[in-house]
Amino acid sequence: MTRSITSGTRLLVVLGDPVEHSLSPVVQNAAFRETGVDGVYLALTCSEKDLPGFIGGIARAGGGGNVTLPHKEKAASVLDISSEAVLRTGACNTFWGVDGKVHGDNTDVDGFGRALMSFLGHAPKGFRVLVLGAGGAARAALVSLLDAEVSAIFLLNRTVDRARAVSRRIGGEKVRVVERAQEVEGLDFDLVVNTTRLGLSADDPLPVDLGLLSRAGAVMDLVYGPEATPFVRAAEALGIRAADGLEMLIQQGAVSFERWWDRPAPVEAMRGALRRVAGI
Ligand code: NAP
Repeated sequence: MTRSITSGTRLLVVLGDPVEHSLSPVVQNAAFRETGVDGVYLALTCSEKDLPGFIGGIARAGGGGNVTLPHKEKAASVLDISSEAVLRTGACNTFWGVDGKVHGDNTDVDGFGRALMSFLGHAPKGFRVLVLGAGGAARAALVSLLDAEVSAIFLLNRTVDRARAVSRRIGGEKVRVVERAQEVEGLDFDLVVNTTRLGLSADDPLPVDLGLLSRAGAVMDLVYGPEATPFVRAAEALGIRAADGLEMLIQQGAVSFERWWDRPAPVEAMRGALRRVAGI
């Protein structure tokens, strides 16, 4: 059903820079149409200086939205009420207004957890996990994995100090920072998660040589694209089951929808919209 836009229509946005390649408007507007909620979702290019004004103004006007690169950390600092996921990761990707206050969440945490559940068919409780990367996506993955009661996490990042800082912030005793890839040689993991950007460009190296490990039970790559990512292909060539970041993309958007509208997201309609526009 196509709704007309009226003075009662809620404005939802994605704020970022650059933002023109964001797939969120297609996915969220499809979800709005499917459920009949009275909202419209737009992408706005936004500088760091403008971010607090946009977030505060839109939320207090009854709207909300997402925040994407490079503003997720700055967004966490302008909220009135932060979810536990925001407090633990230091990043916010979803905001909305309630009674004049700006609420925020980091739905990458639940998005990662739901995507991993759907890939594995069960929670990763007790797993030994190798996490590659220590940026924003890694922080969301670490919080989700720790909440799922994995037994140990090895954290490997190009910049070791960044991995140490992330481990101090989130890790507790279960996260061990690995300084060089050689240190994981011969080790056994139930799951390997790539949260680096490697794989976005065709000439990127693989984030780790899976052949170094004595075992990788499964591989989850947060990178995604129209084709299987190089890391997913490398895993499958070794007989390791693997998934890319597409389901996490859908699931973090679904959790955002639930925060704004307080009802279940139409996940199938969101998947279908993404498939149509991105050829995925
Ligand atoms: P970020 O904060 O900028 O972190 C980038 C990470 O990639 C860092 O660990 C960085 O290492 C590493 N890296 C970058 N270039 C590298 C290179 N040449 N060699 C080795 N490591 C390199 O970015 P992010 O927000 O965490 O996003 C990371 C990836 O996850 C992106 O591909 C993004 O699209 C994806 N992601 C997917 C979803 C989803 O829904 N599927 C959600 C969020 C993010 P250093 O610390 O050494 O720079």
